[in-house]
Amino acid sequence: MYNITLIPGDGIGPEVAYTTKKIIEATGIKINWDIVNAGKTSYEENGVLVPQCVYESIEKNKIVLKGPITTPIGSGFRSINVMLRKKYDLYSNIRPVKSFKGLNSPFKNVDITIFRENTEGLYVGIEEKINENECHAKKIITKKGSRRIIYAAFEYAKKNNKKKVTVAHKANILKFTDGMFLNEARKISLEFPNIEFEEMIIDNMCMQLVSNPSQFEVIVTMNLYGDIISDLCAGLVGGLGMVPGANIGKDIGVFEAVHGSAPDIAGANIANPTALILSGIMMLDYIGEVDRAKLILNALQEIIENDLGKTKDLGGFLSTDEFAEKIIELIKLNKN
Ligand code: NAD
Repeated sequence: MYNITLIPGDGIGPEVAYTTKKIIEATGIKINWDIVNAGKTSYEENGVLVPQCVYESIEKNKIVLKGPITTPIGSGFRSINVMLRKKYDLYSNIRPVKSFKGLNSPFKNVDITIFRENTEGLYVGIEEKINENECHAKKIITKKGSRRIIYAAFEYAKKNNKKKVTVAHKANILKFTDGMFLNEARKISLEFPNIEFEEMIIDNMCMQLVSNPSQFEVIVTMNLYGDIISDLCAGLVGGLGMVPGANIGKDIGVFEAVHGSAPDIAGANIANPTALILSGIMMLDYIGEVDRAKLILNALQEIIENDLGKTKDLGGFLSTDEFAEKIIELIKLNKN
């Protein structure tokens, strides 16, 4: 029996979170879900953005499946997501971007894993209003923060037989901050002689990604660049409904999709739950339930790749619930 915290979140969050929960349960795994909520819905219901029980649950269970959260503008934290990543030092944001066959995209063989530094950079939120006409923001890059995400990327590449790690930076302009990140990447790359190391300026990388994405395998970069290229890469494989993520620290893992709470489609039962389902698969792998993870992945691939049904964002007609039912049917069939 596993104890896992489930944060449904806001907007489409509850739709995709409860769908993912049902799909994970269809594998037969025994999970005691501790359902606690944070964000806009929590604020509207009880006046608190992050109730104490959320922290207690995360600290007790250490494994979290999380829907997207809307941070109400003008109250409390800048972003609850950023706060949680910082508070629990979830420094490694891992976002695998992979093509499914059968999707309407000009790119067929995308298989990129983005390692985004998750606790530093411009997301430290140190901004200053100098006067009506001038504002400043601070970008913080440390050697420790850089080295641990770069190591995470190289270790992942080694473990998964990836041939190349590319570091994305803007060290030509940001000599100290990006310069240090790049320099640490150069040094660490020497410890992995069997993995090709490549450096690329972030603007060039954007152009390369939309012209020839299959040249990339593992990308490691700083917080803001990683955030932006994640959405760009989602566009290569069918959109935001397709890209999962994990926020990993020393002993806590928070698994969530790249996408936000999508208020424009919330409550319409048309959200694509694939990104959170894939995040759930990453969570199962993380806790060692690799066979159950594979069972879900196989069902998902069989449905999308054989055109057995898709949600609207992928050009299909299925509702979130109908899509989930198809996956659950296949899991039950393949399990026996
Ligand atoms: P978004 O990702 O919510 O939506 C962007 C577009 O993609 C929208 O048109 C939306 O309908 C579509 N989309 C996103 N996910 C989809 C899915 N699963 N299926 C089908 N279509 C999908 O980005 P946004 O509109 O910029 O942000 C909305 C809110 O989400 C903001 O409050 C933002 O702060 C928050 N946010 C939260 C997280 C998180 O909790 N990790 C991440 C990003 C944004």
